[in-house]
Amino acid sequence: MGNRQKMVFGNWKMNLNKKEADILSKELNEGLKTSDVKVAVFPSFPYVGQVSENASRYSVGVQNFYPQENGAFTGEVSVIQVKDIGAELALIGHSERRSIFNETHSFLKKKVDAALGAGITPVFCCGEPFEVRNAGEERAYVLKQLEESLFHLDKRAIQKCVIAYEPVWAIGTGLTASTEQAEDMHRAIRSWIAKQYDQECADSISILYGGSCNASNAKELFSCPNVDGGLIGGASLKSDSFLTIIHSF
Ligand code: PEP
Repeated sequence: MGNRQKMVFGNWKMNLNKKEADILSKELNEGLKTSDVKVAVFPSFPYVGQVSENASRYSVGVQNFYPQENGAFTGEVSVIQVKDIGAELALIGHSERRSIFNETHSFLKKKVDAALGAGITPVFCCGEPFEVRNAGEERAYVLKQLEESLFHLDKRAIQKCVIAYEPVWAIGTGLTASTEQAEDMHRAIRSWIAKQYDQECADSISILYGGSCNASNAKELFSCPNVDGGLIGGASLKSDSFLTIIHSF
């Protein structure tokens, strides 16, 4: 069974302090008017436990973890530990982790396996940089990301994942993919899943769009048939804009 449904996730990145995280997480809980949309936020590590205590109407995830159960990995946090403090999902393959922290296809594959092994939902991020789109090679680039880190899973396992297509040139830049660009890639991703597994499997996986999605453009992006929701960065840091995005379905 897949988990396809409308979803809006907020990636807080390395933002907010303890008090701000507390206020925002409470405002979201009070302001949520729908149960049709699965909502989750991904706070910085120190606030994950506190936010998950405030979050009775949405889920909490982590932006990172290290794919080993325990041991001598100074400074790292295991997926077992994040589950222990209330996280249900984990971002894997975000472009900032790929580019700033050099996370490779094979390392991301280990993270996917570790998350699934612990019962944490992988939110697998993929997307091409500007030069790749400019060269017209975005499909091959994104397909390789999926093949290298996700398509080793069996059908049951991949259906437990969420995919987020985030063109790198749109992340934090104010440039958003057009509805045509977003729908085109989302449709392609679904067709690759159908080819690798089958159509039923492809139709059961949520594919979210990320990249400068905000309160003004969410409705249009979410109206695309293959866009099941959004992974939101900047616009998830204020309850009013994040709630507007959630309620724009
Ligand atoms: C992100 O970091 O996943 C993201 C989509 O950021 P923004 O919405 O700020 O572009």
